[in-house]
Amino acid sequence: MRYLSDVLKEEYGEKIYKLSLSSGCTCPNRDGTVGTGGCTFCSEGGSGDFAAAFAPIPQQIREAQARIRQKTDARRFIAYFQSFTNTYGDVDRLKRLYEETIRREDVVALSIGTRPDCLGDEVMEMLFSLNKEKPVWVELGLQTAHDDTAKRVNRGYDLGCFEAAYARLKAAGLTVILHLIFGLPGESREDMLDSVRYIAALKPQADGVKLQMLHVLKGTELARQYEEKPFPLLSMEEYTDLIAESVRILPEDMVIHRMTGDGPRKLLIAPLWTTDKKRVLNTLRRKLANTVPNREKEDRRP
Ligand code: SF4
Repeated sequence: MRYLSDVLKEEYGEKIYKLSLSSGCTCPNRDGTVGTGGCTFCSEGGSGDFAAAFAPIPQQIREAQARIRQKTDARRFIAYFQSFTNTYGDVDRLKRLYEETIRREDVVALSIGTRPDCLGDEVMEMLFSLNKEKPVWVELGLQTAHDDTAKRVNRGYDLGCFEAAYARLKAAGLTVILHLIFGLPGESREDMLDSVRYIAALKPQADGVKLQMLHVLKGTELARQYEEKPFPLLSMEEYTDLIAESVRILPEDMVIHRMTGDGPRKLLIAPLWTTDKKRVLNTLRRKLANTVPNREKEDRRP
């Protein structure tokens, strides 16, 4: 297992910070093109509640950098377009926006969150050409490898759609990062680990993974369902056990981009233990310390 912060430090010789930016896109799963209402867990901010409001890129970057530099001496950044579907919309406009961003000296890479059903030919050409200038990471919110769960949370595409998009992205040489959510309604521990095993077995291998606990956020369909009929959520012990087990399952050279989620506190309904980040990280550190040596032992077997 490799942590993103270590990988970036190794590659760039300094700590690299993320700028949360907005591309001004919406999402086809919210505007009626694919579905309405969006994924049941998705907040009004399009699963990117820390992103800046849409504004000209130089202004967004200036403001995001100023916030980071209040606490650090950050020099170089990854431009992260997380909220909504950042390849959905007028491709010429998006191309101009991403070119303007990637060509800045202080930006080392572009990270674009999107859906597998929003990667048509024109978009692929744009990503391919941007990737020639600097690394482009494409982040896909897979969340689960189970189509029945995907239907339950209204994800709006099936595994076949994901697999076709994944193959095209990898064939084009892009860096692909996959997101999984643990604790989706109706999923057992084994279902969640099946999704991890699915990612671990993908060929060619995924470049990175983001693992996150399900957050029930105010104003979402999930919150309405939870209030109507509360469903079980993972405890901190269960979640951290799952992370440790995932680390054992995933290929050793896969980069872990995230193991905890930063749900916006003002929107969070449950589970409230996720707000105690220090406790979660300490528990994780303890469990991972026991996990990695076991794995090394296994790997040395003939
Ligand atoms: S695809 Fe992303 S932005 Fe769209 S509804 Fe789902 S989580 Fe929200």
